[in-house]
Amino acid sequence: MSLETPTQQTPAVAVTGLTKKFGEHTVLRGIDLQVDRGKTVCLIGASGSGKSTLLRCMNLLEQPTSGTVLLDGLDITGRDVDIDAVRSHVGMVFQQFNLFPHMSVLRNLTLALRKVRKLSKEQAEDVALARLAEVGLSAYVKHRPGQLSGGQQQRVAIARSLAMEPRVMLFDEPTSALDPELVKGVLDIMRQLAAKDMTMVVVTHEMGFAREVADHVAFLDDGLIVEEGPPASVFDSPRSDRLRAFLSQVL
Ligand code: ADP
Ligand code: MG
Repeated sequence: MSLETPTQQTPAVAVTGLTKKFGEHTVLRGIDLQVDRGKTVCLIGASGSGKSTLLRCMNLLEQPTSGTVLLDGLDITGRDVDIDAVRSHVGMVFQQFNLFPHMSVLRNLTLALRKVRKLSKEQAEDVALARLAEVGLSAYVKHRPGQLSGGQQQRVAIARSLAMEPRVMLFDEPTSALDPELVKGVLDIMRQLAAKDMTMVVVTHEMGFAREVADHVAFLDDGLIVEEGPPASVFDSPRSDRLRAFLSQVL
């Protein structure tokens, strides 16, 4: 796949007129969203509003019904797009970690590096060990995921995505399955990524994180972005009744 060389002018992700239907059920009803390179966009909204579906359309885990998604200027919804290549450029971190339970932490990282990036065993392990060190898990490389806390497992999942050097990182409620005392460690890693100008789209219920880290916040309601802007305006001066009602429940 030939992605354009990223420039400041081309947004990392540009979603235009995106709709998604499951059978007769319209879940996304015309989404426009731009994610500029190096920025963090947080998606907020009630359960069922379409946040996960929007994220999944950005790496083709779901095929949009209509509309376009441009990744560094390339239309990934086009017919002749290599879905595996797209996914290798778009990292995704899920609520439930999705690690391979029967493999060591190290192998969870080296697998795709060897199969997709075609690195040698030695090269793959070098990359994996460096990424695991960044998330503070050097001592756990030989453990199985089940031997780690949820917070540690999520940090492995983040390291695994980062190892592929993605253009964009997508996070779908990365801390929602964690015990409260483990949330901070994961948010700290994400904060560091944002500070290093990783491009990120984060679905989160952590409003404190969104307010502090996001460059842009988009509020979804029933398959539409009904309000978006810098965190201060979204959180402090909501204009729509729907957003005011949502914030009164979560803040
Ligand atoms: P959110 O992440 O904001 O909670 P989702 O994107 O998961 O919302 O879901 C939005 C709506 O789409 C929900 O009504 C959900 O039931 C529906 N939905 C999501 N995935 C599927 C699917 N694979 N098949 C049918 N309906 C789905
Ligand atoms: Mg969801």
